[in-house]
Amino acid sequence: MIQIKDLKKVFRTEEVETVALNGISMHVTQGEFIAIMGPSGCGKSTLLNILGLLDNPTSGHYLLDGKEVGNLKEKERTQSRKGNIGFVFQSFNLIEEMTVFENVELPLTYLKVKAAERKKRVEETLHKMSISHRASHFPNQLSGGQQQRVAIARAVIANPKLILADEPTGNLDSKNGKDVMDLLTELNQEGATIVMVTHSQHDASFAHRTINLFDGQIITEVESKM
Ligand code: ATP
Ligand code: MG
Repeated sequence: MIQIKDLKKVFRTEEVETVALNGISMHVTQGEFIAIMGPSGCGKSTLLNILGLLDNPTSGHYLLDGKEVGNLKEKERTQSRKGNIGFVFQSFNLIEEMTVFENVELPLTYLKVKAAERKKRVEETLHKMSISHRASHFPNQLSGGQQQRVAIARAVIANPKLILADEPTGNLDSKNGKDVMDLLTELNQEGATIVMVTHSQHDASFAHRTINLFDGQIITEVESKM
């Protein structure tokens, strides 16, 4: 599903040049659950953002389902993302002015799904995430764990085949963190391919394979024993 070859990402500001990714080559097969680990600043979010078509690499190749997507214009990236890629942000990124229902509905609105169908699918997804009772609340009225469940609901509502999650349990206590990991495992078992950034060895144990980054390079790849 994903093939990456010699990917580099350099951030240039007026004075400094940061090499965030320094020659990454990797593959992800359809149906895999991958964890990405490594110290702060090693390039995990940069890599995930490129995988999620939120940003372009400076050089190298990114093939998604066989198609080169490493040099798309922003509009084309947005178009390619819709319905195909679900992104769970570390900081939730919910829209504060919208209710839980409206936040989760958004990807379907973009896909021009009809209102009645949207309502049905939002209700189903909220139910699955055990957050139905909060449908008419606003994000700032929810706990961190509840907000993360809403963020996941929004990421998965359009049935994306690829789910990218940047430290999805990073802001959660252990109970909420476990719920999120159970949820991701279930989505993976239902067929979604998952790439998750995490600082937690325990969370990484849910994945099939862990990719360890250091200074913008892959240092080891470890298959899980499960
Ligand atoms: P953390 O675990 O703290 O989230 P990370 O592994 O996700 O870290 P990245 O956010 O990918 O790290 O950052 C990698 C490097 O690139 C860092 O040195 C960071 O300062 C730099 N960087 C990231 N985004 C930008 C940007 N937009 N402009 C300039 N430098 C950036
Ligand atoms: Mg990060």
